[in-house]
Amino acid sequence: MASSIFDMRLSGGHPALELVNTLDSRRGRWGPDFLRSFDDVLAFVERLQLIDARGLASLRERAAVDPGKAEDALARLIELREAIYSLFLAEDTDTPYPHRALSTVAEIARVGRARQTLIKANQNFVWTFPFNDPADIVHLFALSATDLLTSRSDRRRVRECKGDNCGWLFLDRSKGGRRRWCSEASCGVHSRVKRFRAHDDDR
Ligand SMILES: [Zn+2]
Repeated sequence: MASSIFDMRLSGGHPALELVNTLDSRRGRWGPDFLRSFDDVLAFVERLQLIDARGLASLRERAAVDPGKAEDALARLIELREAIYSLFLAEDTDTPYPHRALSTVAEIARVGRARQTLIKANQNFVWTFPFNDPADIVHLFALSATDLLTSRSDRRRVRECKGDNCGWLFLDRSKGGRRRWCSEASCGVHSRVKRFRAHDDDR
């Protein structure tokens, strides 16, 4: 079982959903939470390869100079994470969108957009952040979430894994759109073993 940001599985299929899954369990039990410090946040974005080495170094330096700002960014990121979770859970359960969660995500994304600059990287133009403020990580994830909300022209759904002690979210890329588990190897197998045992008890 994963115990930290370094060994958690990345099976959400999208950065915004990987963020949601940094709270290990939302069904059966709650937690553990893998985002316990701003260092965890940096390790996480490094694993996801969302920020280049220069940006990471700059953020690390800023966090060392102003730990209060890093703490604030961690708290805001967790607030954003829970808002993203409730938005996509509403999608999976076909319940009305939680307005407060939507405005939290939209507001952070709006501030983030204003901080972005357009640069040329290799052959392409990309929008990027200055990464001179720990809050830019929060902005980055908010924009990632709004991308996911607005860009699924193929109607791919976000689903909640129904495994015991799971509740992770994932982008369902399966052909029939009926994927049930965040990971076939963990929650899928686990559930089959449990069903088999229950069947055994009946005899
Ligand atoms: Zn699962």
